[in-house]
Amino acid sequence: MLLRVLPACILALSLTAAADEQLEFLEEQPSLAEAYTSEAGEAEADLPPPIEPTDPIDLEPQQPEELEGPEPWGRFRLLNTELEPNTKATLDWYSGHLAGGFDVATPVIVIHGSEPGPRVCITAAVHGDEVNGVEIARRVVSQLKPETLKGTVISVPVVNIDGLWRKDRYMSDRRDLNRAFPGHPQGTTAGRVAYSLFNSIIKHCDTLMDLHSGSMFRENNTQLRADLTIPEVSELAKQFGAIAVLSSIAPPGSLRGAATSAGIPTVVMEVGGPYTVDEAQVETGVKAIQSYLSSVNMLPRSFFWSSPQPVFYSSQWVRSKDGGILISQVDLGQRVRKGQLLGTIANPISDEIEEVFAPFDAEVLGRAQNQFVSAGYAIYNLGERRSIEDLEQEAELIKQQLAASSAEQMGVEQRKDSEETTPEDGQEQSTSSDTTDEPAQPVDSDSDATEEAATEPQPIPAERMPQPEDEDG
Ligand SMILES: [Zn+2]
Repeated sequence: MLLRVLPACILALSLTAAADEQLEFLEEQPSLAEAYTSEAGEAEADLPPPIEPTDPIDLEPQQPEELEGPEPWGRFRLLNTELEPNTKATLDWYSGHLAGGFDVATPVIVIHGSEPGPRVCITAAVHGDEVNGVEIARRVVSQLKPETLKGTVISVPVVNIDGLWRKDRYMSDRRDLNRAFPGHPQGTTAGRVAYSLFNSIIKHCDTLMDLHSGSMFRENNTQLRADLTIPEVSELAKQFGAIAVLSSIAPPGSLRGAATSAGIPTVVMEVGGPYTVDEAQVETGVKAIQSYLSSVNMLPRSFFWSSPQPVFYSSQWVRSKDGGILISQVDLGQRVRKGQLLGTIANPISDEIEEVFAPFDAEVLGRAQNQFVSAGYAIYNLGERRSIEDLEQEAELIKQQLAASSAEQMGVEQRKDSEETTPEDGQEQSTSSDTTDEPAQPVDSDSDATEEAATEPQPIPAERMPQPEDEDG
């Protein structure tokens, strides 16, 4: 295993945009290098095969412990502070984002346990209007005692402290912090805060759970969002007990995506809606995190749920056809049958009533609260139970489809430049301007062209592709 670490570092270096920082990071935490390698496992074919130990003596070398096992347990240094084992402390993180000559410290709570173990990070209120996570982080941390903790928990209960004061999802520059990671020291306000958080704190984590709530007066049943195509994330998502896990690819710029790309398996936990605290949902979230800490042996196993198995879902948003006042007929977590009435949307002028029905048997994983909705507003996030294997395959297809779509857009640009002088071949092209000669999976898959693709993987229907409302609300 030791001998795999060096190729792993090299591979990680080649796969990472911020190569220098990444190398430094991986050198600091070599155990993550291996995790990162297996994420990009297909690239291992280009590397020398790992050398298998043949002598039983090799199975217990001294050096690997230093490189990939738990670090020798001792002081933990964070934010210019050294913590002894068996310590709980509140540190100050200065993100530097408040211009005007003053800065406000953001509290970071660290529980450095008495015995070795993983370093687990919890972040909440990356969006300032999402307070369920703040309360979850508080409850989890308040119950942790360093003398009984194995490992270290780092909690940033209010990342976007400025947004929390203003009850605002966004940063003061109106940008979404959760689309600014890993950030840049000379970037936008959001980019600078993201960079500071990422480099000051997140890089020190072995795993991360980022707590969110629904956006725009939407609410979610407590659930994890996880990219199941990444084995380390998939493993992580299995360890929170009996919680819903949605297969979900991290959006560009999200903390989840950036941290995972840096070798830190990350899940988002979605809990309830914005602005308010949902006691029951919060308790579910607390229990899930405690289950996780127990399952990785950081806490005694007494926190396990009686039914520890997560339930995996794909999900799909149902949108309003017309605008009006939405009144729901179903609750969060409710099972619904295909054709069941989910809610009504009343046009305040014409008095017409739009009825919204479930398009398939499902569970209501998220919904818009009763409110005025515009046409096309995402109102119900319906979950379909699936096997994790199915979801992994589907997520891979979605990634391929997204990549093809992105390449297609670039190809369109190129073809526009060259199509007048260099027609491709003699074949007629589709009149659709967004086709290429790739076996592209049209994003709009409502067409009837399924027969042609009988041997190809079926394209993911447009409504199953990632939607803005899906992600890390
Ligand atoms: Zn959020």
